Amino acid sequence: MNDMHVHASQVRNQAVAMDLELLPWLQNYTFPEKVKYADIHYAEKMYRRFLHTQWLFGSMRSCVFGTVHTESTRLLMKLYQETGMGAFVGKVAMNRNCPEALSEDVEAAVEGNEQLIAEFNQPDALVRPIITPRFVPSCTPELLRACGQLAEKYHLPVQSHLSENMSEIEWVAELEPESISYGDAYNRDGLFGQTPTIMAHCVWTGGQELDLMKRNRVMVAHCPTSNYNLASGMAPVRSFLDEGLRVGLGSDISGGHDLNMFRMLVYAIQVSKMHYKHNHDMKFLSLSEAFWIATKSAGSFFGKVGSFEPGYEFDALVIDDSVLNFDDYSLQERLERFVYVGDDRQILYRFCRGKLIEEPAVI
Ligand SMILES: [Zn+2]
Repeated sequence: MNDMHVHASQVRNQAVAMDLELLPWLQNYTFPEKVKYADIHYAEKMYRRFLHTQWLFGSMRSCVFGTVHTESTRLLMKLYQETGMGAFVGKVAMNRNCPEALSEDVEAAVEGNEQLIAEFNQPDALVRPIITPRFVPSCTPELLRACGQLAEKYHLPVQSHLSENMSEIEWVAELEPESISYGDAYNRDGLFGQTPTIMAHCVWTGGQELDLMKRNRVMVAHCPTSNYNLASGMAPVRSFLDEGLRVGLGSDISGGHDLNMFRMLVYAIQVSKMHYKHNHDMKFLSLSEAFWIATKSAGSFFGKVGSFEPGYEFDALVIDDSVLNFDDYSLQERLERFVYVGDDRQILYRFCRGKLIEEPAVI
């Protein structure tokens, strides 16, 4: 499994404060929690807990947001290295519309990123940096430009948020009046497919923004639980496939509440069925399509990952489904049952790039 969009620093807020929409939720829960990551000891305690949960559910590769703090982001990368699981880990860039304690000026953001790049940006490394502007409302044009320059200079991938909810899109239009769309605000600064790029949500993406994503091969991290919990809307995930967009699934804790990526397949299928209910011209996702999105499609962001075909890196889970397989089920039905009602108790062993991943310690 590959979790293509997740905020490691929000592990304490997982399944807490599910009663707010995006912007008040950021101000009241997300940002205050992130501030605590200036304390490296707090960060270690929480990041170890986060990695343990990822390990439980067999998420062997992830695209992860750290925080603005260079030290705790470095710690997160080292902890990933310790576990043997793969990740692109981002030091978050933001310098406006956020608490003072989380705002970092452009020079400091570049310097912190370059420290991590010097230390971790090896071509075949399992744990590598990713350029991570929080989202357009949190970044001045100067900061976005600096992020784009870092991505280009060091050939690094990019992750951020895109077109998640209507008030956010209106806000971006006010902040960036020269941009044709939200996506264009990233594109103008080299943050939209100039290097491999993944954008979370894309609930309301259409028109020019959609064309740009297709043209630039920008991947969507579809985060169904987050979109439901924050009442953002339902991304047309099956249509993304019809459009030929690259798609993966993200837990997006703590907007999302669940780090079990198998269950994320179920949520994605259910979202697609709601679209089908409203419009029978739209197809809904089959189990095999959802499984392909979560494995091979998402895995392509990391290279040859997400399949057992020759030439692919061996990421695998050994699952004992005997407790679920009490009758004459076919192989496809056994997979379906595990996806819908299985959990970590049936996962016996986890492999990332051919290596057995042991249970990470928590403190
Ligand atoms: Zn997010």
